[in-house]
Amino acid sequence: MKSQPDVLIIGGGVIGLTCAYDLAREGLSVTLADRAAPGSEASWAGAGILPAPPRQGAPLHELSARLFPELSNELRAETGIDNGYQRSGGIEVLADPEPTLREWQSKGIQFERLTGDGLRQLEPALALRADNVFLLPGMAQVRNPWHLRALEEACRRRSVNILADCEVTGLETQDSRITGAKTSTGKLGARDFLIATGAWTRGLLEPLGLSLPIRPIRGQIALLNAERPLFSHIVVVGKHYLVPRADGRVLIGSTEEDVGFDKRTTAQAITDLLAFAVGAVPALAGAAVERCWSGLRPGSPDENPFIGAVPGYENLFLAAGHFRSGIELSPATGVLIRDLLCRRPPALSLAPFLPDRLMTRAAAFRR
Ligand SMILES: Cc1cc2nc3c(=O)[nH]c(=O)nc-3n(C[C@H](O)[C@H](O)[C@H](O)COP(=O)(O)OP(=O)(O)OC[C@H]3O[C@@H](n4cnc5c(N)ncnc54)[C@H](O)[C@@H]3O)c2cc1C
Repeated sequence: MKSQPDVLIIGGGVIGLTCAYDLAREGLSVTLADRAAPGSEASWAGAGILPAPPRQGAPLHELSARLFPELSNELRAETGIDNGYQRSGGIEVLADPEPTLREWQSKGIQFERLTGDGLRQLEPALALRADNVFLLPGMAQVRNPWHLRALEEACRRRSVNILADCEVTGLETQDSRITGAKTSTGKLGARDFLIATGAWTRGLLEPLGLSLPIRPIRGQIALLNAERPLFSHIVVVGKHYLVPRADGRVLIGSTEEDVGFDKRTTAQAITDLLAFAVGAVPALAGAAVERCWSGLRPGSPDENPFIGAVPGYENLFLAAGHFRSGIELSPATGVLIRDLLCRRPPALSLAPFLPDRLMTRAAAFRR
């Protein structure tokens, strides 16, 4: 029996869990350590919107959009857990349509302009201004807590050793290799190490003399329960959105706040979210406010995630910084990390995502 696993994954959000699942499917032995319960940070907090899929010009998004329905079916077959994946379609209101329409056209995203009558027929409960309203039939959604539960269960069934309440406090090095991870419960060894710690990634790299500009960006959410479905399309107006669930719940998002590691919800943000929801769907005025929460998105300056080897190390890899798109991009991230750790050519070019594009080495640091 092997004394240490092929891979230690640090962080059990959607990124760490998806990578663990894909690596375990390849037959690699995987340990995953999370300092809390896996799937309890940004991945739990997110809205689960999967934007309308592009047909060209955005390879990571294209691959993820192809893989999400397959992954959902596989997870259901393996675990019996439905992740709530549903191509519910979206309705988006654009204040300044030209740039967005140019982008949709260049990427081959399917859309249709809606007239006032068309909108009323499609979604009678919506009270949106009729100008510049577009239907995006390919927009989909997933229920994050269900998806995370399915991933965790599928990992366990494939013998991933999941360690909850196990915080990695540092990495031990020898020359260009990571030799172990110091944790709150002892040292963990592995052949390869994958950092998937979302908004907390910077703190793990700094002791290695590496600076990576991932920062927490808070997003607040309010959850209403109308007890019956009032509308079925996801509604997007600027950075605000409504995600209707089949059971009558409606998730209202969100804010983008650069406030550090502060997960409080605030009176102003929740007031604004509720006002937006009731303005867009007046019948929501009588819905119960079930819960409000916030999560910390792993913000990346160019909004692209960091996927690839950490420069200077043979066996240290990174999958973090997915900002607003971590749920959407998790299937392609898992496949790319699987290819890298199996030392195979990746399914698509990693160039736009390599950590060294924005990673700097502290001047005084010597390894
Ligand atoms: C309000 C909101 C709405 C969003 N909506 C969407 C959406 O509609 N669609 C979409 O695609 N994305 C959305 N996102 C973004 C998405 O949720 C994130 O990009 C994604 O969850 C990031 O996943 P992750 O696994 O990298 O990070 P996380 O889920 O934060 O996971 C990181 C994990 O690492 C663990 N960890 C941290 N440090 C350590 C350590 N030292 N040792 C061990 N474990 C550690 C943490 O406990 C955590 O479990 C939203 C996010 C928010 C907050």
